[in-house]
Amino acid sequence: MFKALVLDQVDGKTVATVRDLEVSELPDEPILVDVDYSSINYKDGLAITGAGRIVSQFPMVPGIDLAGTVVESSSAELSVGDSIIMTGWSVGERFWGGLSEKARLKSEWCVPLPKGMTSHDAMVIGTAGLTAMLCVMALEEAGVTPESGEIVVSGAAGGVGSIALRLLAALNYKAVAITGRADTKDYLISIGASRVISRESMQEPAKPLEKQLWAGAIDTVGDTILARILAETQYGGAVAACGLAGGYKLPSTVMPFILRNVRLQGVDSVMCPKTRRTIAWQRLQQLLSSEDLAEMSQTISLEEVPAYAEKIIKGQVRGRTLVKLTNSR
Ligand code: NDP
Repeated sequence: MFKALVLDQVDGKTVATVRDLEVSELPDEPILVDVDYSSINYKDGLAITGAGRIVSQFPMVPGIDLAGTVVESSSAELSVGDSIIMTGWSVGERFWGGLSEKARLKSEWCVPLPKGMTSHDAMVIGTAGLTAMLCVMALEEAGVTPESGEIVVSGAAGGVGSIALRLLAALNYKAVAITGRADTKDYLISIGASRVISRESMQEPAKPLEKQLWAGAIDTVGDTILARILAETQYGGAVAACGLAGGYKLPSTVMPFILRNVRLQGVDSVMCPKTRRTIAWQRLQQLLSSEDLAEMSQTISLEEVPAYAEKIIKGQVRGRTLVKLTNSR
């Protein structure tokens, strides 16, 4: 028997309970993993609280991230004892996920844990950190360098935002944090922001073009803030958009694109091809130390997950939240 968080639908509402399951109840997939850690992302919050239509069938074990050790494998790609990371691929949405002491997975979903990285640190990073790295790579590929100017990061005290700030600082970019929580200022400076601006100042609807302020941006919130960022991006700049914590709309115009040559690059981590995600994980290993990651994370138990899912939806969680399962190293 092992423990897992299970989501059910009762009278049209999502109910989350920690249950004992048998290995035989897991889906029929070739890799069995002992999970060390999982984490809570915004999407997990939507799934566990039922605030978003994330789960396609019930019962569902949520958890879009996990790190652990292979204990059974009928795949040539992975052997017993291999340490792996799994994020995305609709796991925790269509397939049973990582908020469980054991999980069955497809080998193509797994990337090797980079040498020098612990499963703990891999889950401080998780989907949020992978997405932050993919956003930074998108800016690099668009030709934005540390010399180009300031990079603005929205939703800065959240998971993606926090790791984006740390990565930008490690690469010598000057990062400006946008936050709705004034009390996170010291935290944001400590993890790499060069200065902090208020969410309120960015929420005012923008004119089609505003004063050119940003060489690049990582946007996790969408809506009027993304529209303002686009209007304030300097000639030839790039914006990596990955989230919708503030809304899914984009009340903008084509002016930044056609008059300032601004690039808007969408970033998805869920279906990101394995080759690109392996490169991203190697870079994350090189750029982030365990000390950096400890500063922006907290660890909770499986039983505490439903309460933290509520908190992340309300924007009350700072940085990353890990969930400790078996075999923690
Ligand atoms: P978190 O909840 O950790 O962080 C989101 C942050 O957004 C909050 O901390 C808050 O930052 C800010 N925020 C919250 N509500 C609002 C609001 N109404 N208006 C403006 N800002 C707000 O979430 P994650 O970092 O895990 O995810 C961020 C976004 O990125 C989510 O929309 C998520 O779905 C998306 N995402 C997308 C991925 C992809 O592959 N495309 C992968 C991972 C995440 P502060 O307190 O500093 O203002």
